Amino acid sequence: MPTAALDTIDSLADDLSSYLGKDQINNVRRAYYYAEQAHEGQYRHSGDAYVTHPLAVASILSEMHMDHQSLMAAMLHDVIEDTGVTKTAIKSQFGNTVADLVDGVSKLNKITFSSHAEAQAENFQKMAMAMAKDLRVILVKIADRLHNMRTLEVLTPDKRRRIGRETLDIYAPIANRLGMNNVRVEFEELCFAALYPMRARRITAAVKRIRGNRKEIVLQIQTSLEACLEREGLPGRTIGREKHLYSIYEKMRSQHKSFSEIMDVYAFRIIVDRVDACYRVLGAVHSLYKPVPGLSLIHI
Ligand code: MN
Repeated sequence: MPTAALDTIDSLADDLSSYLGKDQINNVRRAYYYAEQAHEGQYRHSGDAYVTHPLAVASILSEMHMDHQSLMAAMLHDVIEDTGVTKTAIKSQFGNTVADLVDGVSKLNKITFSSHAEAQAENFQKMAMAMAKDLRVILVKIADRLHNMRTLEVLTPDKRRRIGRETLDIYAPIANRLGMNNVRVEFEELCFAALYPMRARRITAAVKRIRGNRKEIVLQIQTSLEACLEREGLPGRTIGREKHLYSIYEKMRSQHKSFSEIMDVYAFRIIVDRVDACYRVLGAVHSLYKPVPGLSLIHI
């Protein structure tokens, strides 16, 4: 979500002290000041100084507790492409590893695709190659794209659509493959709004109408599920969530249903430790709620 106030290097350094050492934080600061100088006089479409972008990318990675070299690469990720700085210069300032990461991100940016199918296939190959060398290149790139998606509203509708399409086709699947579920969901929500602003607004309104206070309903159902499991003497962990807009939309589209026909706007997961417990829990839940065809039972 876009933050009301822009991050500063000081607030980031503050956050970093929870998991990085002093020297490491100083190196992140050094990379920031270097980027600030390199991007001097450059601005984002929003009118913000350009350096606010690499800083935000580094902040996203800090939330994932990424190491200091990834954060340094995040600070410098657009320097080779957008300023006169060379890889050699970065290497002499920040060492081989950071220079390689920055170079890797820049190279990834240069890949362009002529079609969707080609994009997916090719991109996965490139991704795999980059991953074999250093997975952090991909993570910096994903954070870069996430910040660009979060700040899309200043672009023209045409550009928003193009970037949204590319993100949905390429970056959301990559995030998914890497197990970054929160990032995938945020990509999908932002892309949906960028690609289909009218539909996104209509579904949002419809969801609001039927859900009322959504958080409360999820909590109520979860509480009654937990009470039911307790009564039946079935130990398990219950996790409840609201389905996100894009997954509701996908279901409407793939099953040719209208919004009023989509019943499952909430999802619950009950995790137990044995297969037989799984079936007994399903039985208990059916005694609580009327089963509908298509309810899935998955044991892994
Ligand atoms: Mn960037």
